[in-house]
Amino acid sequence: MRPSPITPTIDLDAPGVRHGHLRLPYSHDASAWGSVMIPITVACGGSGPTALLTGGNHGDEYEGPIALTKLAYDLESLDIAGRVIVVPFMNHPGCRAGTRTSPIDRGNLNRLFPGRPDGSVTEKIADFFTRHLVPTADLVLDFHSGGRTLDFLPFAASHALDDAEQEARCTAAMRAFRAPYAVRLREIDPLGMYDTTVEALGKTFVTTELRGGGTASAASVRIAERGVRNLLVQAGILEGEIEGEPSLMLDMPSDACFVLAEAEGMVELTRDLGEPVRAGETIARIHTLQRTGVAPVAHHAGLDGILVARHFPGLVQTGDCLAVIAVPAEG
Ligand code: CA
Repeated sequence: MRPSPITPTIDLDAPGVRHGHLRLPYSHDASAWGSVMIPITVACGGSGPTALLTGGNHGDEYEGPIALTKLAYDLESLDIAGRVIVVPFMNHPGCRAGTRTSPIDRGNLNRLFPGRPDGSVTEKIADFFTRHLVPTADLVLDFHSGGRTLDFLPFAASHALDDAEQEARCTAAMRAFRAPYAVRLREIDPLGMYDTTVEALGKTFVTTELRGGGTASAASVRIAERGVRNLLVQAGILEGEIEGEPSLMLDMPSDACFVLAEAEGMVELTRDLGEPVRAGETIARIHTLQRTGVAPVAHHAGLDGILVARHFPGLVQTGDCLAVIAVPAEG
């Protein structure tokens, strides 16, 4: 395969803390010989594992980018055993625009893995992570939140994997994050996800969903900051104690967890995040804006559980994800 067009402007292996960019040549109307410049910080201490920490995979999710920007600034003052690579704005064009996808090519980075070195700008970013950053890491944390269109209960997540030993490592790291909830996540659309690529390379992988709505709260940022620090402690990269209460464990046993809109209009959720729901009960009604005197379209829970995600804006289209239900699990 051809080499990646992306060049780091700093040494990723030399001892010490360095701040630089991943430079991706991008020729466009406003800059013939221009570049996309993705900020990166690397801290190399003594011997130990490598942690690759990313935010901004989707450009309208803020807890990860805030926590990682602050961590990058603080790394100078921390005693690191091993190496920490911090990329707070993975899809940098999307982060600058505050949009889920890239304004350059409308690329959804988390649907374009493993990427291509000769593809679109977004595919080139994916390819650089797949072939140059992820293979050097032991532990990978990718921060997500709901973005402009979803809101989540704050949780860390891992996936069911074929390799039981790897799944145990990922589960232990997810628990160490100490978000209020920990979810064994079923993906609604797994094709092309960073998660899948990282897990296929055998890495310990943790992702999150930490609220949403296109902003961050004081509480959700605190969860993100505590979580990344806890993960680095658990990996032996930072000294200290894991802080916070153990997470409430949740499972997503089937596709019945997802409630999809079968009408367009104004959505009325009948449960808030964290509230219990029963199989068969109405959890959302969609009201038409076209006329009065029409019954709303009721949407029902497919199983018993608690509401862990909801559509955020007040208007929905047919096919939108209205709600996600997860089920309390053992341990
Ligand atoms: Ca996301």
